[in-house]
Amino acid sequence: MNDTRSKVAVLGLGIMGGGMAGQLLAKGFDVTVWNRDPAKARPLGEAGATVAASPAEAARGAAFVIAMLAHDDASRAVWLGEDGALAAMDAGAVAIECSTLSVEWAKTLASAAADRAIGFIDAPVTGTKPQAAGGTLRFFAGGDADTIAKAEPVLLAMGTEVIRLGPVGSGALLKLINNFLCGVQVASLAEAITMVERSGLDVSQSMGVLTAGAPGSPLVKMLAARMTERDYAPNFLPALMAKDLRYAASTFAEQGIELASADVARARFEAAAEQFGDKDMAVVAEVIRAAGKPRE
Ligand code: NAP
Repeated sequence: MNDTRSKVAVLGLGIMGGGMAGQLLAKGFDVTVWNRDPAKARPLGEAGATVAASPAEAARGAAFVIAMLAHDDASRAVWLGEDGALAAMDAGAVAIECSTLSVEWAKTLASAAADRAIGFIDAPVTGTKPQAAGGTLRFFAGGDADTIAKAEPVLLAMGTEVIRLGPVGSGALLKLINNFLCGVQVASLAEAITMVERSGLDVSQSMGVLTAGAPGSPLVKMLAARMTERDYAPNFLPALMAKDLRYAASTFAEQGIELASADVARARFEAAAEQFGDKDMAVVAEVIRAAGKPRE
């Protein structure tokens, strides 16, 4: 069965997973949710989802099991750990990994799924909190064409596009390349804004010129506003960007490409995560603002 009566389990109800589960519920799927911290599952339970006590309980009998977790270690624990989802899934069901993961781990997990005759796709997303809550994510899908086709109606309940990139691991790979380009832009933007502020240029005029010009990517436009307004309500945590840049660096290294710019950006995001905890990655601007002194 592959329609809105399908049972779908969602594992991981953070900033992204919570919104995604809400969209599946709103579109009429039979949704079971699980989160390590049960408090995040409660609002979804009140909205009509079944709340499970473990990943295994959520996955049992589900046609599709979606994970949206912080990193490889979380994914490993939730799929393969004690009371993990994979061992509880029916043969023929589909595991959908939407977390941003290393390519190596996505492939390892796919092979563990294949050993149990479970379909697997890696389908990390672009879009952030509002797109997850509003069902307008884009999925970078890796996996065999039949499995992606089977999962597509579920993915399209949470997003607008499923981009088929190739075999398992292709989605994870392009997502890391994508976030490498995002991370270095955001770290550079923090330095540029600090320079504009410190040097006495008119901030509003200068940022208007920069964002309307060649450097004004959609990401730079969005983050420039947050950094200048000091709006750090969390959309994407700096620790997660640091993780993505770390995974990207090791993946690029396999092709002999040194990610020197990503290494510098990663150190900035690690400092932001350490100093400013659960704020948005735009808070990396505060790391730069706090550092260094202008020459006399
Ligand atoms: P988040 O709000 O920090 O949520 C992280 C989730 O992972 C939570 O459910 C958390 O559970 C769970 N988790 C962490 N460690 C765990 C462990 N050891 N065992 C079990 N569960 C664990 O992050 P998010 O923003 O939703 O991001 C989720 C994924 O999407 C990440 O891979 C991120 O890189 C990717 N992503 C995020 C965005 C964005 O804009 N936010 C955009 C695209 C992709 P607890 O609640 O119990 O801590």
